[in-house]
Amino acid sequence: MLVDTHAHLDFEKFDRDRPAVLARAREAGVVAIVTVGVDLPSSQAAVALAEANKGVYAAVGMHPHDASALDGEGLARLRELGGHDRVVAVGEIGLDFYRDLSPRDVQRRAFRAQLAWAARLGKPVIIHDREAHAEIMDVLSGWAAEQTGSPLEDRLGVLHTFSGDLGMARRAIDLGFYLSISGPVTYKNAGRLADAVHALPLDRLLVETDCPFLTPHPHRGKRNEPAYVRLVAERVAEIKGVSLDEVAAATTANAERLFGFEAPS
Ligand SMILES: [Zn+2]
Repeated sequence: MLVDTHAHLDFEKFDRDRPAVLARAREAGVVAIVTVGVDLPSSQAAVALAEANKGVYAAVGMHPHDASALDGEGLARLRELGGHDRVVAVGEIGLDFYRDLSPRDVQRRAFRAQLAWAARLGKPVIIHDREAHAEIMDVLSGWAAEQTGSPLEDRLGVLHTFSGDLGMARRAIDLGFYLSISGPVTYKNAGRLADAVHALPLDRLLVETDCPFLTPHPHRGKRNEPAYVRLVAERVAEIKGVSLDEVAAATTANAERLFGFEAPS
């Protein structure tokens, strides 16, 4: 039993064969998928997919790339969606200083506004961090401190497609976050990430695909899909010297604890 904690099932790349993609995921032992919104239309689509498919849950939010598009009305409409019972998280939100598709100040404002909203909603956050490690940790430590004593305290959220080093991973775990591992851990140059995975406690790790992106080895270069989360879990098991079953059981329990759902068996 595996959970793909980060997929973009609404993306056009799945329009031709979405039911087959979901069937292959089930065959590979993927019992639950969190499909993650990146803007208002994709958040609406994520909720619709979660309503229509057993084992699919939604996250709603505005990606830093699209932060410029987040106005008061957009945030109000996201807020409405956030209350839906198939919505298990706010995301993906964060900072992307690699592509800088929205101005940094606009990204910061959207990030903070959505963190505040998640806290009021009482749902965990899914964090996108690209080349913004120091500032992400700065913002998250302030926000985490504000959640002390709240029901979110132990399940603040996840740093998705974690790309920091071991020191950052430990700080994030100390704050109350989970770290999610994706396709790059299967690549030959995964040295630093593999070292972090080796050292980190299994009870704070999740696995994900971030499909259609970040396709794991040996399918790299092709479209990614939730069934391939198994390849990520196998590599995590290999790095940690434990069985795939152990990684699957732990990461599934972690996902259930963080997102507050019970994966259908
Ligand atoms: Zn994503």
